[in-house]
Amino acid sequence: MNVIATKPVKLDIKSKVIQKAVHPNDIPVFKPYLAGIFYKGSEVKYISSPINNSKIAGFFKPDAESIEQTLERIYTKGRLDARNIPGEERIKILQKIADLLEEHSDEMVEILVLNTGKTWKAARGEVEGSIDRLRKVNLDLRRMQGDFVPGDWDEQTLESEGIIKREPFGIVLAIVPFNYPLFDAVNKFVYSFLPGNAVIIKPASANPTASFYLSALALKAGIPKSSIAVVPLPGEETEILVKDSRIQVISFTGSSRTGKEVIKKAGIKQVIMELGGGDPVFVLEDADLDTATSKIVTGITSFSGQRCDAIKIVLVEKSIYEDIRNGIVEKLSKIEVGDPREDVDIGPLINEKAADLFEIAVKDAISKGGKVIAGGSRWRNYVEATLIEVESLEKMKEMMLFQEEVFAPVAVIVKFSDLDDAIKTVNERKYGLDAAIFGNDINKIRKLVRLLDVGAIYINEHPRHGIGYYPFGGRKESGIGREGIGYSYVTAIKTIVYNYKGKGVWEYM
Ligand code: NAP
Repeated sequence: MNVIATKPVKLDIKSKVIQKAVHPNDIPVFKPYLAGIFYKGSEVKYISSPINNSKIAGFFKPDAESIEQTLERIYTKGRLDARNIPGEERIKILQKIADLLEEHSDEMVEILVLNTGKTWKAARGEVEGSIDRLRKVNLDLRRMQGDFVPGDWDEQTLESEGIIKREPFGIVLAIVPFNYPLFDAVNKFVYSFLPGNAVIIKPASANPTASFYLSALALKAGIPKSSIAVVPLPGEETEILVKDSRIQVISFTGSSRTGKEVIKKAGIKQVIMELGGGDPVFVLEDADLDTATSKIVTGITSFSGQRCDAIKIVLVEKSIYEDIRNGIVEKLSKIEVGDPREDVDIGPLINEKAADLFEIAVKDAISKGGKVIAGGSRWRNYVEATLIEVESLEKMKEMMLFQEEVFAPVAVIVKFSDLDDAIKTVNERKYGLDAAIFGNDINKIRKLVRLLDVGAIYINEHPRHGIGYYPFGGRKESGIGREGIGYSYVTAIKTIVYNYKGKGVWEYM
């Protein structure tokens, strides 16, 4: 691997959108927006760039008192303001945020490159996807409907009727992971605010900047002042929000381990849990070689494999194995890793700990009979796109790369001759987010579609949740609920029963 990232990293936000103080050593210190105030406290936390691990910004960490005041403001005012403005007004606010984000998109892209280590292309993709998600809000409405239940199918309910309506819960706590710091905050905000909820965003500690920016744009777009807050707390201190009874819904995206913690502490609340995964892909013997290998390489490497829908396991039918293996290795060897500000394919992992985990997983695979056939090396938090060959499904099951999600551009490749065995193996993983299939044999595809315990299956495509045009979400330890346009709006169902007995409305024979 070449020497990487020698240029200094400076986060230079010029627009006045996002409120900040300037630190003595010239880095911006952001003031989180807490439902009515831009907060300036006494404790400053710092944010580093994964590019060279230098400090690029800070933010004022809210203390317990300010968090309590925020919750109270949102509960007593913000949640009511959000539901009391008409729905079409909420849509206008969301559309306006899209316009503002577009106006400030260059700055937002820079934030994602410097604070998350995305390449320009990946960062631009996330910003455009976020704008698109906001603009597609009208499509959410196609499924946000209630119901009517006539009473005359039961003797007890004659001369009555029921209306089943949807209404906002009140306050949604949106807990956001580091890998899509803007899109995940936007997406959760859209589907929570659209039906009239107030939203508290808890960003990842590594990169809260995108959420600070989003709240400032929402404010500019006219959201009621107490209906949004961004509370940047370290995960281990987030219990103060998670367990609070004023919050009725938690929309969480993150690892399965953290998801379990959140569920344990939340008590009885509605939850949407978008959790870990890492996906398997099946390559059948009649697959198109170039399509399959190109898309699999993208699936393994994009955003350095730090995606829940990244490919981690490649299962290939025996007769086509050599061709697929060699095709993937050839394409992986061309993947350039380096400073994401340069012309490279992938940038760094989010921190050195993530690269340590990559190294541990590679060593573990080798110790269990795996052979590194592409990549394998690491420098600080930069790692190469890596493929590990293993001789059998049984051997693969012993590996950490099979048992755990390793958030890096690394996958295992294995051949199979019996499709049922391959399906059984994949279903033994604790995760069940997505799977992909490359091939054309309709009978085999149909069988895979029927038997795989996953939330989404991509045929002749690598798994890609995108903006949620098609809904996504996991089974087993990969999650509860779905995100996606029209599938994740946060509403409470309320049944209203009207009794007209004896009022002459109905005349039954
Ligand atoms: P993570 O470590 O689980 O953190 C996710 C969020 O939870 C962060 O904001 C984190 O804050 C917070 N958190 C940590 N401990 C907490 C606790 N005890 N209570 C409440 N919140 C807590 O995940 P990540 O590394 O940021 O993101 C990567 C993971 O997200 C992967 O597993 C990936 O598969 C998953 N993901 C899933 C989807 C999907 O659609 N299924 C999409 C994207 C990502 P701190 O940063 O302060 O620790």
